[in-house]
Formats: sequence, structure tokens, C-alpha cells
Amino acid sequence: MTRAQYLQGHSPGRVSDSGLNAFLDRVVARVSFPVTSALMNRRGIVGTYRSLKRTEQASAGELRALQLTRLRRQIAYAARYVPWYRRRFGEIGLDPRDIRSLEDASVIPPLTREDVIENYRDMVDERFRESIAKAESSTRDAGQPIPLALFRRHRLVRNNSSGSTGAPTLFFEDGSVTGLNWALELRLKSWFGVHPGAREARMVRLSTQYVSGGSVNNWRKHLWHQLILPGVNLRDRDYEFCTLALEEYRPLVIWGFTGALTGLADYMRRRGSTPSGIRPRMTIGWAAPVYEHEKALLEEVFGCPATNIYGSREVGHIALKCPHDQFHVNQEFMFVETGEPSDEVDCPPGAGELLATTLVRTPMPFIRYRMGDIARLAPSSCECGRTLEVLEEFVGRTGEIFTTRDGRMIPPNFWCRLFMAREIPGAVNRFQVMYRNDKNIEVRIARGPGFTSETEGYLNKVMRENFAPATEWEIKYVEEIKPAISGKYLMVYREGQTNEKSP
Ligand SMILES: [Zn+2]
Repeated sequence: MTRAQYLQGHSPGRVSDSGLNAFLDRVVARVSFPVTSALMNRRGIVGTYRSLKRTEQASAGELRALQLTRLRRQIAYAARYVPWYRRRFGEIGLDPRDIRSLEDASVIPPLTREDVIENYRDMVDERFRESIAKAESSTRDAGQPIPLALFRRHRLVRNNSSGSTGAPTLFFEDGSVTGLNWALELRLKSWFGVHPGAREARMVRLSTQYVSGGSVNNWRKHLWHQLILPGVNLRDRDYEFCTLALEEYRPLVIWGFTGALTGLADYMRRRGSTPSGIRPRMTIGWAAPVYEHEKALLEEVFGCPATNIYGSREVGHIALKCPHDQFHVNQEFMFVETGEPSDEVDCPPGAGELLATTLVRTPMPFIRYRMGDIARLAPSSCECGRTLEVLEEFVGRTGEIFTTRDGRMIPPNFWCRLFMAREIPGAVNRFQVMYRNDKNIEVRIARGPGFTSETEGYLNKVMRENFAPATEWEIKYVEEIKPAISGKYLMVYREGQTNEKSP
């Protein structure tokens, strides 16, 4: 794509005037972003951000006291209104009033992905059953508020997870998870000296779904200072498009799936130079760890620090990496514990599988949710001075991203979307994808009641559109897909990375 082609159909970039820019940033931060977010069901972003800035100065003891208050409230809420937790607490004879310290939570058995997949309807506040039914029958895309499915003053959002293990997880939220995530991202940016309202590019869309210059993308650019870019299944021409768009928009923050960010940086390095107009203050990798070599690449190409968010779609952002390279836990909204030391991977001393508990979540709390990642929790002695506890010796899930022969990235989410597509309702009960060492792909499918003679044609068509021409794949139909010894279902794994030993 040439520059002229790119500029056709695009609104011109903003005149570069630092005084005007600073003014517009303030308008976005104080007016257009919070007001339109509230209209879109995501309330309290600015207020939450302000409270986060206060509590991150608190002492470790004060933070734990705040966590305990919120944990007790969350457990009491779950016991009172959420049938699944009521049963589970009943089975172990737990009265929520028995929780007198954070450590007391350890009597509650960990929540697995399987629990959520099998019981999600029962894991939502029972007063809103009708709304859940409406949300389930809605044809809206995942992540969109559903008009008739009310939860108090909010509209319910149905979403599914992009995790790397297990079948996709359905969950419901009232818009507060997205709102909280954005407040937490404002916190992370503030750690790097980036103010609210600063222009940001977000590499998030599937490249095949991305429509440049679409109306939603345009208003986000102006009202939220967010430039939306493709971030999944990218090829060189997508990277070129991203480069031109970034040159024009000049964001201070580039946010994206880790693989998209590093793919873009790699593309720019292969081209020989970073375009002069792109001078971000930070890059933020999401949905996968930013490994050392990736961090070095990003910092070299963009000339600014590269940071990382740890979390999941179901529970939200758990920890943020500060300028001193420490993962600080968002303790005000999340209680994190380490479970039993894992025998599935070489576990560093004191480390174990992370369990996450949401502290202010309605209508579907997650209590001691198994994250599938290994780390050690430690009090902060970070040079940045923040008291929020830290995750050390972090071992993220690996082997989830597949790079095709022509450099396209296939993240786990691609498979979730493919097999849960509206075009093939109920066709796939469970699936498993193995990336072979010869760069070909094996797909195993346990068929569901909706499987028809047209299903395979649809799957082949979408895969053909997204893979490199030379990539071969094989679909195998199986009666069932068995969990690994750990009890988890691996959705995606690499040949040779034994099914049983994956973290
Ligand atoms: Zn720090």
C-alpha cells in the first residue's frame, strides 16, 4: 500500500501543535472518554483511576486490610446470591463470617475452568436469571452490552475467554470489568509518565475483520484518542498499514497482543529504520508474556520502555509491570494466592500455580480461580517505591502462539472464534489444535449436535483465508478429547511439548 492509497479515505492527521494537543488530551481525559464510556455501560473509570492513585501509596498493611474487607464482602455476596458458591460453601461447611483473615480463604477449593464451563449459569447472581437467558439468546457479538438483559442499572455483557487451555469459557459481566481494566491501564500509563487522554494505538482487531476508516474506528480516534488497528493474523502488508497509520497518528502508547507488537517491531527492523514520526513513550503487551528478547526488540525499535499486563479475559487485569520490571499485583481489586507447588513444571522455590479472586465483582464473582500460570508472590521491595505486592519467577503459559510460514501470528483466540462462530452453531463440542514441527497443523474435533455436511467446508474456508498458502492442516474427528493429567484441557499445544507437562 502506498502512502497516497493509505491517505485516501482517511481523515487528515492532527496539526502538530503541542499546546493544542495537550488541551485536546485533557478534553478527552475529562469529558469525552468518561461520558461516552458511561453511555456504553462502562462506568466509574475516572473515579476508579483516582482511587487507584491514592491506594498505591498505601502501606502493605493497609492494602491487605482493604483486601480483607473486600474479600469478605465478595464471599458473602457469593454465598447469598450465587447458587454454585452457596452449594460449594455448604459442602465444606463454610460460613462467610468465618473468613477473618486473607489466609482463611484457603479453605475454599480452587475454581477450575471446567467448573466454569459446566456451571456458568449457576455462577451468576440468581436474581438476574432472566437477564442471563436474554443474554444467552442474544445475537450480539461477545463483549457487547445486551439492551434487554439488565443488571441493576447496567446492561449485561456476555463474553468468552481467550485462554490457551480448555474449551472456551463463557462468562457474564456488567461492563465493570472493561471499565476497571481501563482504569488499571491508566494506572500503568501513569507509572511511565503518560497522562490520561494521551493518544494510544491499540492493535486488537482480526486483520480480516478490520475495516480501515470505519465509523466506529473514527469516533474512537477523536473521542477516546484510541487508534484501532489490526492485531491478529498480521502479514507484512498489515504491518505496513499499521506503520503508516502510526506515523500519521503519532500515539504516545502502542498497546497490543504481544505477538502483534513484536511482529510490528520485527517488520520495522527488517525494513531498516523506524519511521521518524513514531515516537511513543511506552509499548504495552497483552495476552502473553513479553519475553526478554521481545522486550529488547521493542525497546530498540520504538526507543521507549516495553511493559506487560498480566491477566485474563474472565478475571481482568491482575498485575502490571512497572518501569523497574516488577509485576505489581492490583491488590485493591484482586486477591492473588499461590496454590500447591506444581509438579507439572520445574517450580522455583516458593512458587505455585496462581489463584485469582475478584474482590468487587458482580454478577459473576471468581473465587480462587486457577490461572494455569506459575509464580511466587512477594512483598514489594521495588525501587519504584510502590507497595503493591509482586509476582516473581513468573512462568507464563508457553506454546500458545503459532507463527505461519509467512510470519502470520495465530493466537489461541483465533481458534475460539473459529469453532464458536455463529455460522456453525453447536457444531463443535470440543477441539484441540496441535502445531506440528513441520509448521503444519493438526485439528482434532469432537463434533456437537449442530455439525452438518457444510461445517467442514466452512472451517476449511476460514483456515485457508488465514494461513500461509503452503500451510497444510488435517482435521481429525474424535469421540472425545481427554484432559491432560493435570485435569486441564489443552486447547493448543506444540508437537513434542507433551500434553501432560504443559503449564
Ligand atoms: Zn515497581
